[in-house]
Amino acid sequence: MQADGESAREIFGQGEGLTYNDFIVLPGHIDFAAEEVDLSTRFTRRIALKVPVVSSPMDTVTEHKMAISLALMGGIGIIHYNNTAEEQAAQVRKVKRFENGFITDPVVLSPRHRISDIDRINEKEGFSGIPITEDGTLKARLVGIVTNRDIDFEPDRSRLLQEVMVTELQTAPVGISLAEANQRLRETKKGKLPIVDAQGRLVSLVSRTDLKKNRDFPDACKDKRKQLRVGAAVSTREVDRERIAALVEAGVDAIVVDSAQGDSVFQIRAIEHLKKTYPGLDVLAGNVVTTRQCASLIEAGADGVRVGMGPGSICTTQDTMACGRAQATAVFECSRFCRERDVPVCADGGISSTGALAKALACGAATGMMGGLFAGTQEAPGEYFYKDGVRVKKYRGMASFEAMERGGGKRYLYADRGIRVAQGVSGYVVDKGSMLDLVAYIVQSLRQSLQDFGCRSLAQLHQVLESGSLRYERRSSSAQREGAVHSLFTHEEPVLGVRSEVP
Ligand code: NAD
Ligand code: IMP
Repeated sequence: MQADGESAREIFGQGEGLTYNDFIVLPGHIDFAAEEVDLSTRFTRRIALKVPVVSSPMDTVTEHKMAISLALMGGIGIIHYNNTAEEQAAQVRKVKRFENGFITDPVVLSPRHRISDIDRINEKEGFSGIPITEDGTLKARLVGIVTNRDIDFEPDRSRLLQEVMVTELQTAPVGISLAEANQRLRETKKGKLPIVDAQGRLVSLVSRTDLKKNRDFPDACKDKRKQLRVGAAVSTREVDRERIAALVEAGVDAIVVDSAQGDSVFQIRAIEHLKKTYPGLDVLAGNVVTTRQCASLIEAGADGVRVGMGPGSICTTQDTMACGRAQATAVFECSRFCRERDVPVCADGGISSTGALAKALACGAATGMMGGLFAGTQEAPGEYFYKDGVRVKKYRGMASFEAMERGGGKRYLYADRGIRVAQGVSGYVVDKGSMLDLVAYIVQSLRQSLQDFGCRSLAQLHQVLESGSLRYERRSSSAQREGAVHSLFTHEEPVLGVRSEVP
């Protein structure tokens, strides 16, 4: 029987660049449950992931909280470099030292602090109990704890904490398992369980309010030492060699060499330096959109290739530089070339819905990198605020004027001449809640997509893509309208999985 639609080679081989919106995948045959779908993949040659999801190295997207949540859920986060090498390395260290359920960097005060200091912390971060150590730092001897109950009805907010803190403490020793710590919290009915070393110094804290969150993460992305994995981005500048050394020292698992046009001598030198100096470290190189560019980076030693020039939600590159490529075509062409060389492709930019992520994978990508979709979550850097009555966070391009300003213009040589050309904008995205919920939603949605395609795994998806048995069809503009919500007077859109428009 003649198959409907076209093979990937046919649909992407017609000379016109296609975006995710321009095509649809035709359904396959289902003889398995969505829950059986295996989303295992690789980020780079040697880094396996249970979930094909990566967060973008942007200063409004990935710092340690984002990277921790993503790694717990089976993906990987890439820490941005719009900061000092020390700050970036400290972020990496926080991910590597993370222990599920244990708060390893709690807010700590000293007996000489005042109740008003707690009020200040409460206003900014919320609080339910603060450990008090001799000198107000972690790793110093624990001398007390102050909870809401101790200060709620105290009219004099200038009183010293040493006068109100509780000094009879229920603590637990370093090395206690999370299950035991949770059991101890249940028994003592206390809000917080401080974990101390043999000298009585505070090491971490287990919180009663986190009890429900302290669950297992069977898909967590971990290294051989059972620490969460994390990536970090660097520029192609020679000065970043020191940054790389600091990141390696902090235990980073992969380096992303970050550039909009990745096929440059600068990037090739950076990859060669990385592979020669740190042969055990995987390198994701990019960004590229053509097979010739992929060849340059793979020849230099790239362990993974990041694809996308111009599709980002905050991006103005294609308009300002007249250079780039429609993303679905770029992902298909680069993935075809890289797959033959056993190099995974990360599809970066323009993934503004779960459907777009499924399409990126159906074009051959091993993973999808998201900026805008993850911005606005609790774990993204930045504070929430209200704009026109909507709770939002900032999201901005790394080549926007604002981001360049924060980076001191260091990424732009042109800054020396006093002229900077922006390739991105700043905007706002709506509150998307917790990453743990969002990634769970994305994973479930992906499993259902692959089930609709008739594929039990990502590996099978790439086999049927290659063999031509997965079928695709172009969508006319009216087909795109038909495929979207239409003919309603009004409707409500779920926040998860949909693009948040700049108001
Ligand atoms: P970049 O620092 O790589 O490049 C800026 C300029 O500096 C380019 O002209 C480049 O050729 C030059 N340069 C780079 N390294 C050099 C070196 N060692 N010596 C001399 N010149 C050198 O930054 P970018 O490409 O403009 O990207 C900035 C940020 O914005 C990155 O985070 C990038 O991911 C993001 N961005 C992404 C896209 C995209 O479509 N994916 C587009 C624009 C910007
Ligand atoms: P998004 O997921 O569609 O929001 O796209 C995120 C991607 O856009 C990032 O991973 C980068 O590749 C790219 N990007 C980041 N900053 C800029 C910028 O300022 N201009 C253009 N592209 C950018």
